[in-house]
Amino acid sequence: MKPENTSNRLSILVVDDEESIREGSARILMRMGYQVYKASRGSEGLEILDHHPVSIVLLDLKMPGMDGMEVLGHIQRLNPEILVIIITGYATLETAVEAMKQGAYDFIAKPFEPDQLRIVINRASERIRLTEETEKLAQERQRNLADLGTEKSRIRTIVESLPNGVLVTNVQGQVALMNPAFEWLMGIEEDKSTGEPIEACIQDIGFCQMVEDISAGKAHSLPVTYEFTTIGEKYLMASGRPVLGDEGECLGAVVNLVDITAMKVLDRLKSEFVAKVSHELRSPLSTIHEQLALVLKDMVEKESTRDQYLLSRAKEKTQGLISLIGDLLDLSRIEAGNVCIDCKPVKLDEFLKSIVDFMETRASGKNQRLSLVVPNEPIPLISADPRALESVFGNLIANAINYTPDGGAIEVKISLLPDNIQTDVSDTGFGIEAKDIDNIFKRFYRVKNEKTRFITGTGLGLPIVKGLLDELGGSIQVKSEPSHGTTFTVFLPLSASNPP
Ligand code: ATP
Ligand code: MG
Repeated sequence: MKPENTSNRLSILVVDDEESIREGSARILMRMGYQVYKASRGSEGLEILDHHPVSIVLLDLKMPGMDGMEVLGHIQRLNPEILVIIITGYATLETAVEAMKQGAYDFIAKPFEPDQLRIVINRASERIRLTEETEKLAQERQRNLADLGTEKSRIRTIVESLPNGVLVTNVQGQVALMNPAFEWLMGIEEDKSTGEPIEACIQDIGFCQMVEDISAGKAHSLPVTYEFTTIGEKYLMASGRPVLGDEGECLGAVVNLVDITAMKVLDRLKSEFVAKVSHELRSPLSTIHEQLALVLKDMVEKESTRDQYLLSRAKEKTQGLISLIGDLLDLSRIEAGNVCIDCKPVKLDEFLKSIVDFMETRASGKNQRLSLVVPNEPIPLISADPRALESVFGNLIANAINYTPDGGAIEVKISLLPDNIQTDVSDTGFGIEAKDIDNIFKRFYRVKNEKTRFITGTGLGLPIVKGLLDELGGSIQVKSEPSHGTTFTVFLPLSASNPP
């Protein structure tokens, strides 16, 4: 028999002493696809309920022995979720209403048509389906909430146990979260900072400024990094990013804080070691260099030989080593912050003239024209370490000579700006490709191509220039056109007492 309804999972119990109603109903229900149990008495029905999972009970009110109302009471105690539909004659309509009050789900009056029964049963089974669905949804929601809770506490545990400090602020720069590592690194007392503006918790002005700028969406290049020291002699490195919302709007800042003290100590030890070794090597190398020069001079007077060639190669190599040692010592001075110890008033035009004169021999050796252009008005004094200035311009002019072919021109030009003196060192040389420009200020970076292949160097010149200028409060820019030439522009600050 083909079921009329797909709810064949549900079981229905029909309890009625009237055989025709019991059997007739059972037939209709079976045709609808339900599993049907039958009982002619209340006690018999309860017995079935004890052993079978039943969802709906069709219950006659008037039966010999235990009447319908009593059976209803038992069913309610046994399982209140079972839906009871009362079968009643007109005479017992009032009782049916009473039964509804007691918790029966619905009623159907005798005699009834098959369609009437179907309608009542469909309504009940729909109600069961909806109840089940609601329960399922509630369970799912419960599970989701539990998952979310676990996920939240898992993330919290991870953030709390991170060895790096983590700070999160809102768009006003107020603290939203600080993990224990952050509080420990910054020496902040626990749990006192949430909701406070960042300056109320942290003294370092630069750090607070960085956090406020990022929080307010004012940071331009990302991530923003900031290095600083704390009272406890810790070196810390903070790097921050904005927290962005769905629309890309800034919601605040997240800052990662790392203790770099050990790295700084190692770096200092390395610098000290390099400085010491360079210092020890410099005098014996200079002696070897001078002695080679003497021997060579003697030889020239006698006649040139193969030995002369070998010795002049050895002399060149020692010269290379001496300038490398000079570079390493310069770097150590920059790293130790010893650049501006010896600052004196310097007249830049005169100072550059002496460097240009000194480099003239090298330039003319390559048939290059080296010139100095100064403005007509008098140039104010600047306060700087002359050794540092010599290294800056010596390196830039040496590069211009080295990386310009024979017969080229090099110009050193001074101009006055409101707060700075600008010096351009321009050449008509090989130029530098855009892809290399960002790297030439990195240590040991050298552009390798057909033109520069035979030019010796260590790649320390420009990093030294940059480091020295940083220390002097100046800056450097570079513009270059491959095969046409390069201009390095140096800005040196005029002191406030020395306006142009
Ligand atoms: P050294 O340490 O002896 O100065 P170096 O000259 O190679 O060695 P840097 O002065 O740091 O090192 O220069 C780095 C690189 O930049 C050079 O190798 C060169 O390729 C390029 N460069 C520097 N100045 C110029 C220039 N004026 N024209 C073209 N290329 C240049
Ligand atoms: Mg160089």
